[in-house]
Amino acid sequence: MSTHTQKRSWAEPYKMKMVELLHMTTKAQRVKAIKAAGFNTFQLKSEDVYIDLLTDSGTSAMSDRQWAGLITGDEAYAGSRNFYHLEAAVRQFYGYRHVIPTHQGRGAENILSKVMIKPGDVIPGNMYFTTTRLHQELAGGIFADIIIDEAHDPANLHPFKGNVDMNKLDALVKKHGARKIPYVSIATNVNMAGGQPISLENLRELRAYTRERGIQIIHDMTRVAENAYFIQQREPGYGDMSIRDIVKAICDCTDGATMSAKKDALVNIGGFLALNDLDLFEEARSLVVVYEGLDTYGGLAGRDMEAIAIGIAESVDDLHQHARVGQVEYLGQKMMDFGIPIVKPVGGHGVFLDASAFLPHLSQDEFPAQTLASEIYIDSGVRTMERGIVSAGRDAQGRNYYPRLELVRFTIPRRVYTQAHMDVVAESTAAVWEKRNRIKGLKMVYEPKYLRFFQARFEKLG
Ligand SMILES: *Cc1c(COP(=O)(O)O)cnc(C)c1O
Repeated sequence: MSTHTQKRSWAEPYKMKMVELLHMTTKAQRVKAIKAAGFNTFQLKSEDVYIDLLTDSGTSAMSDRQWAGLITGDEAYAGSRNFYHLEAAVRQFYGYRHVIPTHQGRGAENILSKVMIKPGDVIPGNMYFTTTRLHQELAGGIFADIIIDEAHDPANLHPFKGNVDMNKLDALVKKHGARKIPYVSIATNVNMAGGQPISLENLRELRAYTRERGIQIIHDMTRVAENAYFIQQREPGYGDMSIRDIVKAICDCTDGATMSAKKDALVNIGGFLALNDLDLFEEARSLVVVYEGLDTYGGLAGRDMEAIAIGIAESVDDLHQHARVGQVEYLGQKMMDFGIPIVKPVGGHGVFLDASAFLPHLSQDEFPAQTLASEIYIDSGVRTMERGIVSAGRDAQGRNYYPRLELVRFTIPRRVYTQAHMDVVAESTAAVWEKRNRIKGLKMVYEPKYLRFFQARFEKLG
């Protein structure tokens, strides 16, 4: 056999230096645990979880360089050296001029919404995100979804389901006038669509359109490097460009950004607000002191800012992103091989089960995705989460949102689990798939006022 015709495998561009032992449970223990948690995986104790795919937020493994960086933390109240490292990294890799650290992404969203949104303003975005939309609404704004229709169809194979529908945006501008639209909120690798990218072509069209009308673009850049990977793989003309350069090109199309460094940037806590406009920056800088802390630490320790600065550089590495997204694609392919309905194409940070197709006998008011997440936990101790009607919450009038996507999210932490863990996850899901016809839904028995998916409680129907 000639070697050059053989399939060549790829492997992770790192090796393990330390391991964390996992905790195994029995099925009886898991049934007890999920009941005590009100059938909400957010309410489980981490000790009762075997493989934790609840979120990729703050769950990544830091590198030895990041851990070494922690020790160089300069814990001065003001002007910490690590702040200047963070500021330099943001300028170098993302190109934004002014940086304000925050404790995490929503801290940046709070300040941004307060300085940019007036009551009655409309904020178009490529699909909502839970905390982003809530901060827009708390500031008196109204969110308007302008993502392409394909994004709401889990079976549609569009390569850039994060794209903006320019006609939807234009209709909003004609209806409300550009003065009522302070900015367009653009997420890269759209979380709620299943980790789906936006193309550079679409972003450039949006840039030209908004520049003409004096509308800014604010970038929810939590997963910008994963988006850049998809552009490199899928968008004509970018196959030879590095992820590092594509990330920069994306940021260059926008005026500022909110960042949850707990995702792409490979840290356990942190975020920032970045703005190119000096006046807006000065307003935000005076506000950060009220909510987060002085503008050179924003709720973070010096060591946290150092870990972010190093993590940003590691996140734009081509080999890193290949392994990161490659592992997600590996799990997605396994699910498809079992015939399990998932959102396609497989996204950047996780595999999303189509719960409506998985449990077609349940109505959306019986919480199919919430139900499936609890069934998978009972089967194997794998923790996933709901992204459907519970996450969507209620509008300002108190009416339930009924999202078209009813999904269970298997989010993969970066650099944490192995391929064997992915096999266990897929096989557990297949076991639940086998008995899907016998699965009963849930009813909600406790609903908190804000972001209900975190704390809501349920009971089994029937
Ligand atoms: C996580 C996330 C946020 C909020 O960031 P936190 O660090 O969790 O506060 C905002 N937007 C998107 C797309 C996210 O995934």
